[in-house]
Amino acid sequence: MNIKANTEFLNIKETYLFSEVGKRLRVYTEANPGKRLIRMGIGDVTRPLPQIVTDALCKAAMEMGNAETFRGYPPESGYGFLRESIVRYYARSGITLSPDDIFVSDGAKSDIGNLPDILGDNEVIIPDPVYPVYVDSNLMNGRRIRFIEGNIENGFLPLPDGIKEPSVIYLCSPNNPTGAVYDRNGLKAWVDCALETGSLILFDAAYEAFITDDLPKSIYEIEGADKCAIEVCSFSKFAGFTGLRCGWTVVPKGLMAGEVDLWKLWFRRQSTKFNGVSYPVQRAAEAALSDEGIKKCLENVSYYRNNASLLADVFASKGIRFTGGKNSPYIWLECPGGMGSWDFFDFLLNEVQIAGTPGEGFGRCGEGFFRLTGFGSLEDTKEAAERLKKLL
Ligand code: PLP
Repeated sequence: MNIKANTEFLNIKETYLFSEVGKRLRVYTEANPGKRLIRMGIGDVTRPLPQIVTDALCKAAMEMGNAETFRGYPPESGYGFLRESIVRYYARSGITLSPDDIFVSDGAKSDIGNLPDILGDNEVIIPDPVYPVYVDSNLMNGRRIRFIEGNIENGFLPLPDGIKEPSVIYLCSPNNPTGAVYDRNGLKAWVDCALETGSLILFDAAYEAFITDDLPKSIYEIEGADKCAIEVCSFSKFAGFTGLRCGWTVVPKGLMAGEVDLWKLWFRRQSTKFNGVSYPVQRAAEAALSDEGIKKCLENVSYYRNNASLLADVFASKGIRFTGGKNSPYIWLECPGGMGSWDFFDFLLNEVQIAGTPGEGFGRCGEGFFRLTGFGSLEDTKEAAERLKKLL
């Protein structure tokens, strides 16, 4: 074939991280069949969906089998009932949005990956370490990326520095992989910078439900953000929808890039390339956002958060520096004794049979750091905490 392929894809680094982790775990378990491995690298949820959610899912599925209640293609931006529930959810944090600002999707990853479709050739600013989708989806479109450094000194919460030209800025808070959360001053610095430089913030709030301290859950808590930010959020971690698939993106109506209305572009992009989320899933998402649904979903979130805090307590007691461990399911620790992240991976695996994720896989600044998560069971987490206490 002689057609031209999109060769920008060739610029994407092979994501060997999880395959390499999997390979090393396989080799170890085959060689050591009697040892019980505890997997603390899981980024997926493990708790079952609350019954209020599954009841809504089943009821809506039954409606689809009845001529009177059958539904075909859903509205392209989501059913009104769900967009209104999302608006009410934001109102709990004092944020006023309109259902028109909400675009329901099959999850945050798709929206994050698709947003570059409506943006031109801008400089893209991405904090490192990072959720890899921001990087790869821009490389696929041939965009110029400038990384800004997260490190132990800035608590893995870099602030704007040297941004002069209008740029597209990715922020994720609470952060994957570092678990770090911006406070209001930090986010205000970014919003002010975006307004001054004519930049756009793409804010990933996928872990907002983990916040219990007085920290912003949404970029729209910051004045002026409705003029410079798009927010992506998800039912995955809040309500356990990683297998059901549902999320949303907020594009405030009237958000302008120069003379161009970004809301209109996103509406056009979604209605051209996306046919909506299934009715039963949207009903399940609506149930998750009812008062009772939120209460039940947050019980699961606090289960994971409690796991993360058990691990954080171990590192705190050993004087090991870390971020996360509260307001987040993640703990991001400095590998002790100056070990590299893969060395520490092997060390934990061989000495105490704990599997985590080497920080280097999340970017250059992740070298020397390590990610553990609270998404496992309480029993496993307690056992892992005991093993770590003895080892470190
Ligand atoms: N954003 C971040 C920071 C994530 O860590 C993840 C998943 O792990 C996602 C987005 C993807 O969310 P979803 O399951 O809604 O696609």
